[in-house]
Amino acid sequence: MEKVKIGIIICDRYKNCAGGKCFRSLRQREGAFALYKDVEVEVVGYTTCGGCPGGNIQYAPAEMKKNGATHIHFSTGLLVGYPPCPRMEYFEEFIKVMYGLQVIFGTHPIPEQYFLTHGALNTWNTPFLQRAIKDVLCDEKTRLMYD
Ligand code: SF4
Repeated sequence: MEKVKIGIIICDRYKNCAGGKCFRSLRQREGAFALYKDVEVEVVGYTTCGGCPGGNIQYAPAEMKKNGATHIHFSTGLLVGYPPCPRMEYFEEFIKVMYGLQVIFGTHPIPEQYFLTHGALNTWNTPFLQRAIKDVLCDEKTRLMYD
């Protein structure tokens, strides 16, 4: 079976997070991990951005690439924080140009409570954010399981 190696970068606002939702969704191939339905996945790196303005983005992908990562996931926290990380688009371009790695926005499905609040705030109403949330939007039943 084909195997994909990935790295996960989380928003430093959630630096104490133990990765419970990310690893559950990886196991269940939900959210952005549905992309790997038919392939084996190994997580070869997991770290935070280092805090605003994201200094660790410059270095962490290098370590992940050395361990064989081809895909870097930005955790769902970057998308659902209040506000979402304002630097994601730049980070994506930087990682592509500097390391030649593919960036995927999100990990676990967006929890329903964040979906509702951001909906009321109209937060994701830009072409970029619409693209960024598409893999983790999921259906209501799935979002409720990640509340
Ligand atoms: S908002 Fe962005 S740059 Fe700031 S801590 Fe979160 S991921 Fe890092």
